Parts: sequence; C-alpha cells; structure tokens
Amino acid sequence: MSGEKIQMVDLVSQYHRLKSEIDEAMQQVAESGLFINGPQVKQFAGHLADYLQTSHVIPCANCTDALQIALMRLNLRKGDEVVVPDFTYAAAAEAAILLGLTPVPADVDSRTFNISPEAILRALSRRTRAIVVVHLFGQSCNMLPVMEIAQRHHLAVVEDNAQSLGAEYIFPDGRRKKAGTIGHIGTLSFFPTKILGAYGDGGALITDNEALAESLRMTTLHGQSKKYHHHLIGCNSRLDTLQAALLNIKLRHIETFIAARRQVAAFYNEALKDIDHLLLPYPHPASTHVFHQYTVQVKNGKRDALQAWLKEKGIPSAVYYPLAVHEQPAFKPHIRLAGELSVSRQLTQNVLSLPIHTEMTESQLAHITQCIADFFHS
Ligand SMILES: *Cc1c(COP(=O)(O)O)cnc(C)c1O
Repeated sequence: MSGEKIQMVDLVSQYHRLKSEIDEAMQQVAESGLFINGPQVKQFAGHLADYLQTSHVIPCANCTDALQIALMRLNLRKGDEVVVPDFTYAAAAEAAILLGLTPVPADVDSRTFNISPEAILRALSRRTRAIVVVHLFGQSCNMLPVMEIAQRHHLAVVEDNAQSLGAEYIFPDGRRKKAGTIGHIGTLSFFPTKILGAYGDGGALITDNEALAESLRMTTLHGQSKKYHHHLIGCNSRLDTLQAALLNIKLRHIETFIAARRQVAAFYNEALKDIDHLLLPYPHPASTHVFHQYTVQVKNGKRDALQAWLKEKGIPSAVYYPLAVHEQPAFKPHIRLAGELSVSRQLTQNVLSLPIHTEMTESQLAHITQCIADFFHS
C-alpha cells in the first residue's frame, strides 16, 4: 500500500468501495429521465433534515449560491453591514458584496481558527444587520456567545457549514445541536471534497423557520410561487437529480466517513505530538470535530520550507488560506475595517493542511509523519 500515491483526497478509491450502490442509484436516474427535480432530490432533503434534526433542508446548486440566497432573504438594504470571519474561504464576503452589502471582517481564535465572539463585538456598528459564521475545518464555532450577541443587537445569524457537516455544538448545559442548525439559516456544500461530496457541485440551505423556508425555496426557483408566477426576485439554483441520488447513498455512510477521518486525525495527533514547532489542531470542548481538514500551525517560520520538503517526497499539502478576507485585492474597496486582524494574518503565514480523507492507510500516514519528523530533526 505504501507505494500508492498519496493524495489530499481520494474520491476514486471511495467510489470503488461503494461502487455497486452508487452505480445502481445513478442508473435509476438515467432510466427515469427525470434529471431536474426528480424524486431523489426531495428524498435527499428529507433524509438530510432527519440527520440534522432540523425541519427544512432546501437543496440548491452550491454553497456560494446558498449564502447569497440566505442574504437575499434577510431584509437587508444596500450598505448594511455583515460581520464575517477574516480567516476563511471567501464565499460569504463575496456574496455580501454582490448584494451591495458591506462585509466587516472579524478576527478569529488562534487555536480553533473560528470567529471570535469578542472580535464580533468590535466589528459591530449602527449598520450591522447580520453575522455570517463559518464552521472551519470540521469544528463548530462557539455558537452560544454568537447567538447572545445576535439577540442583543437584533442581528440575523447565517452559519456557513460547508466544511463541518456532522459536527455537533455542545451547549454549556450539555445539549447538543448539529452545526448549521443553530442560527437563522445554515448553508451546506456538497463540493466533491467536502464531508458529503457529490460528483459535481451541490449545496443546501437549512432553517427551522417555516415561512423563511418557503421564501428560500422560492428564491432557488426564480422566485416562483408556481410556474411562471414570480413573487420574488430569485435565481436558478438547483441540485441535479443525479447528484441527489448519489448523495442519498453517501449520506447513509456519513458516520463511517467521519469515523475514518477521526482515525486519521488520531494517528497524526499521536505521531506529531512531540514536535516542538508544530501546533496541532485544538479540539474545542464545545464542539465535536469531523476533520474536514487536519491543519497544523508551523511556529518556527518554516511553513513554506516544510511544504516544499514534503512535496519533494511526493506528499501533497495545502495552505488554507494564504490571504485573509481583508487582504483580498477584489474585496478591499468594499469592506469596512474594524479592529485588529492580527490573528488571521498570522494564520495565513503558519497554517498547513495535511492529507486527510476516508481512504488513507496506516502506511501512508506513517510515511507522512516520518517525513515531517525528519524535517524538524534534520
Ligand atoms: C467550499 C466552501 C464554500 C463554497 O462552496 P461551493 O459549494 O463550492 O459554492 C463556501 N464556504 C466555505 C467555508 C467552503 O469551504
């Protein structure tokens, strides 16, 4: 096995393991001819709502659309401000800017990488109307303080849960709720490399509010209440039947996928724990971790050298993310800067994500961790 190529994700091996189930589901769609809004789309939404223990899952074309659709239905006006994490994928800030809103980046916690409630407070102004939190790398944000701030200041909360499907937020009283189901609207991505990945693009919106669910659903369908009757300005954002059929199969295996990722993380934790200059992922006590990424911080300034060293040995790794939101050239003219963003800037210099997926072998992990140890001891 050690001769096999190490990849950041290995979707093909996973397909081969589930091939008979997947082939049958895909073939069924092909034979039905119902490629748009076939019955599998509704089935999938129902199964996912059960898994998340939420009332409404509204499938759409991708998570970027889901974020935009969410922001479209929060009664925001041009120039209203939306607090976003500064260290994250750019989709939330981009969607806000497209709608004429002003993203205000807030700094993140240096251990969890997630938005810091104190930084949210510093980012507020008279114009703040919403907070978009991102559950980064597989862990839930600390949602109770976020929801308290939102309630006190009458703000909507959108949870971008593209990366942490299956993670649970643990309230101080021990109650648990799935990430993405705590704020007013949650968003999901089924991009192939995510926890629940399609064979193409896919996304969904989550809400417990019936009226909001209806208007979000309408928005994905050109704002139509019925065919050719447009009640809202919407868009065209659908999940393909083929993708829904596949996701129905893969959803049955999601806990196995998550368990496999946790096993990889446990191996890394044990093998890398004694390396001085490496800060390993911090499991926050208020969240379970589904390890969408296994992201270390290289504390001696040699992140790029480590990445080059690994590459030489055939081991891929990735920097998520090399620029903070406030550093993105396209965003700069459209954001408002409020308070220090030093943690997120530092993280862009330190972080390195190691290969993690459902098909990794112990010999691959032994090889990767040995090469990392060699780098720090040579
Ligand atoms: C992947 C991702 C997105 C975008 O998802 P798409 O489905 O590709 O649009 C948005 N936010 C975060 C945090 C992501 O990781």
